[in-house]
Amino acid sequence: SPRHPPGIASSFIAPPREPPVRPDSIDAIASAVRRGETSATAVTEAALARCRACDGELLAFRELGAEDALAAAARVDQLVADGHDPGPLAGVPIALKDNLVTSFGTTCAGSRMLEGFRSPYTGTAVTRLIEAGAVPLGKTNCDEFAMGSSTEHCAYGSTRNPWATDRVPGGSSGGSAAAVAAGCCPASLGSDTGGSIRQPAALCGIVGLKPTYGRVSRHGLIAFGSSLDQIGPFTRSVGDAARVLSVIAGRDPHDSTSVDVHLPDLDGGRLEEPVDRLRVGVPRQYRDERNHPAVNAAVEAAIDVYRSLGATIVDVDLPLTDHGIATYYVIAPAEASSNLARYDGIRYGHRAEPRPGEELFDLYARSRAEGFGPEVRRRIMLGTYVLSAGYYDAYYKRALQVRRLIAREFEAAFSRCHVILGPTSPFPAFRAGEKADPLAMYLCDVFTANANIAGIPGISIPGGFAEDGGVELPVGLHLQAKAFDEGTLLRAARMFEQATTHHLRSAPGATPEAAGRGG
Ligand code: GLN
Repeated sequence: SPRHPPGIASSFIAPPREPPVRPDSIDAIASAVRRGETSATAVTEAALARCRACDGELLAFRELGAEDALAAAARVDQLVADGHDPGPLAGVPIALKDNLVTSFGTTCAGSRMLEGFRSPYTGTAVTRLIEAGAVPLGKTNCDEFAMGSSTEHCAYGSTRNPWATDRVPGGSSGGSAAAVAAGCCPASLGSDTGGSIRQPAALCGIVGLKPTYGRVSRHGLIAFGSSLDQIGPFTRSVGDAARVLSVIAGRDPHDSTSVDVHLPDLDGGRLEEPVDRLRVGVPRQYRDERNHPAVNAAVEAAIDVYRSLGATIVDVDLPLTDHGIATYYVIAPAEASSNLARYDGIRYGHRAEPRPGEELFDLYARSRAEGFGPEVRRRIMLGTYVLSAGYYDAYYKRALQVRRLIAREFEAAFSRCHVILGPTSPFPAFRAGEKADPLAMYLCDVFTANANIAGIPGISIPGGFAEDGGVELPVGLHLQAKAFDEGTLLRAARMFEQATTHHLRSAPGATPEAAGRGG
């Protein structure tokens, strides 16, 4: 049968399959809305109620746009009433990271610099979601201009982790991750420049997908590191991540780096087809004794799961793993220093109160000093330094050369395996305030930043739990695949998900009933 192609051990007996659709899944909500069994309005009201109930404690949202959400829901309901199909995301509430511009509500990128900013347009990914019937709930808190790994460098409050509210949700898309983990909505969008979707997904016990660079248009994403940035979904299952990806992916004339590479259709059971003769690469550099023991245990357990599914485990070598952070912290700040030059208080952003007789340059400088927080200022200084005459060759040019080597290292690894398996984060969620040293914070992305450097896709999926300081915290597994091979990546992730139950466990208080299935 097609479910057991050659290469899958015939002695392996599949575990009883969970019902193909969870009651709180995108598919369950959208099918019920499309069939008229519930209304988008009822789903949205339930989602808003859930947001209001938990957000005092979590601060996942910077702005809840109840009026705009209910208006979008009413449009979906009208389409159904008129006999039209609102689309595959009919009535599905989604939360949006605060660096995705929308013509409704405000967009601040977690920064005072953009306080109260109303965009004249909505970006492509969000437009595609809305055209597919999704209902935008509001903007989620994030680290300022997406620079951080804890959602603590935020001008509008620090999001907390739904599994333990003294802990961070990860970052920089921590609000989008916490909203899904807390059951406010089945999906949200984040952005990932060095790990900002995958790391918070891991720390919040959900699925987070960073697509291949170029797979999703960056039009309407407030730029951080333009050669690294990519928009992607947070969801509670691999299937839902595939659904959101299929809606937002594709070439967009507004982003010249977006490309038209075929994304396989994973609907109708195709996601469930195991990868034929799956080869899972495990780099020895990822099995590091500095990782939290429960993180390493989860990776070893995942290796066993894949083996039991008939996969072949191969050793691969990624010796440049440890150079990723150094390379990233040259390239990303260099690009950021250029992208953030536009916020001078005149062309864009917060303007300091002008002083009589003041030179224009001084007004720029004061506006930027008032508008940007300390981490953003640090990045701008780092970026300006590595690009300056005399240092350009020593730092920036060198980093680009290492970037090429990292990409080649992945290419060589993918000649031996379909996916690379490892931990997403070296440790589970840490306590708020714990990482005061910027370098300690930067090391959160040691396993994720290289995917951005090489432009390849990566996904974090629930891989188990860690006992830490008397609480149980989720652990994420990271799978990476070669560029534009999201099809294999998602199917391999789904194989693991189907054989395990980690993803079925919800953060305390986040029940499917509370998660937006109104009506
Ligand atoms: N944590 C990394 C940083 O601070 C990555 C952020 C991101 O992916 N946006 O730059």
